[in-house]
Amino acid sequence: MNKNDRISALCKAAEAMAHGDFTPDIPIGDDEIGHLGKSLKKLSAYLKKQSERSQSLYRIMVECNLNLQLIDILNHIYESFQDHLPYDRISLALLENEGNKLKLHWSRANYDKQELIAGLSIPMSDSGLRAIIDIKEMLIIDDLTTHLEKHPESRLTQVIIKEGIRSCLICPLVAAGKPIGFVFFSCRKKSIYKNLHKDLSLQIASQVAIILEKTQLYKGIKLNKQLIAQKKSLQQRVTHDALTGLFNRPAIFDILHKQILRAKRGGLQIAVIMIDIDHFKTINDTCGHLTGDAVLCEIASRLTQSARSHEYIGRYGGEEFLVIISPYDQVGALKAAERFRDAIACQGINANQTLVPVTISLGVAIGTEPETLDENLLLRRADEALYLAKHKGRNRVEVAKADD
Ligand code: GH3
Ligand code: MG
Ligand code: MG
Repeated sequence: MNKNDRISALCKAAEAMAHGDFTPDIPIGDDEIGHLGKSLKKLSAYLKKQSERSQSLYRIMVECNLNLQLIDILNHIYESFQDHLPYDRISLALLENEGNKLKLHWSRANYDKQELIAGLSIPMSDSGLRAIIDIKEMLIIDDLTTHLEKHPESRLTQVIIKEGIRSCLICPLVAAGKPIGFVFFSCRKKSIYKNLHKDLSLQIASQVAIILEKTQLYKGIKLNKQLIAQKKSLQQRVTHDALTGLFNRPAIFDILHKQILRAKRGGLQIAVIMIDIDHFKTINDTCGHLTGDAVLCEIASRLTQSARSHEYIGRYGGEEFLVIISPYDQVGALKAAERFRDAIACQGINANQTLVPVTISLGVAIGTEPETLDENLLLRRADEALYLAKHKGRNRVEVAKADD
């Protein structure tokens, strides 16, 4: 072929490529025109790959719109991109439990012995993964062994290393602006992922996120959250008083029972404080029942605010409250009771636009020995001490006589 023919063959090839034919005849050689041919051949190979890649992405997009099963699409992804992205394994993991857990939903690898299998849940302890969630960007880990040295808490890395995986590219999955999980591309070779792989993997991940948003799986997670919230609110209704939000009578009794067992096991003391509002009937009679209710709520709120973490407060009866302090000694219990008394007496209660001065009386009983750590005995003693406090003029704390 002479020089002019070769140049015109190269022009034809370039023309064909411009029209989407990426495998035209391209003459090559060792002179300058031949080198140009070689470069054109490389360009045609590159364009061919790019075109295949776009077609695969397009097919997956179509499949997403056809509402195909997620698993079919994931399998298709696994089979379609091997020539464009290096991987020995692809995995899909979704966040659960308010982002504290990561559950593997699907994975496929070109080797048999998989340690990380679908259904496996692991705590989100890897700070690397948390960082991806925060910035919603992908992450390349060149050497998982070094990563594990830096993040020994990462259970995921421990398991995947066992499979022989050495590097990975992690894409966050974002649905409705919120992180919902990750797609992992993993390889047995170290340092395999380059920046040039980022675009494609992100495009794949965004398609996966779209389908997750559409399918039952994502809805299932949402539904699960709703169910958990419903369960919590049901539990709340069973154990809490509707008016004041404090533990109700059965719940505070249950706490008392458990704390007594704990105190007996650990050789600890516990305190029981019985509280009764002073002259509450007068408040009801003069200000009305609704204001009485508002006063009850404010008292509950002040008691709660002034309670420490190991002080449990329940509504024992109409205008009576029970506090369990565990573990506690007499001095501490007296101080706590004074703290509660002062929290109510220090300032009148503004209820339904009426300023109502309110005080409470408190009876304290301490269980010290195994024989005095008894529910009925403690309640009886606290009640007697409360009666004494009322008798001595109200707005005061009385402690039950020493155990005998
Ligand atoms: P004392 O200082 O001796 O305790 O006097 P008191 O008036 O507080 O005691 P009494 O037992 O005579 O009255 C308690 C009142 O509490 C009677 C009852 O109607 C009222 N009460 C009980 N539960 C509720 C409630 O849920 N809301 C309202 N508003 N009042 C309640
Ligand atoms: Mg009463
Ligand atoms: Mg009362």
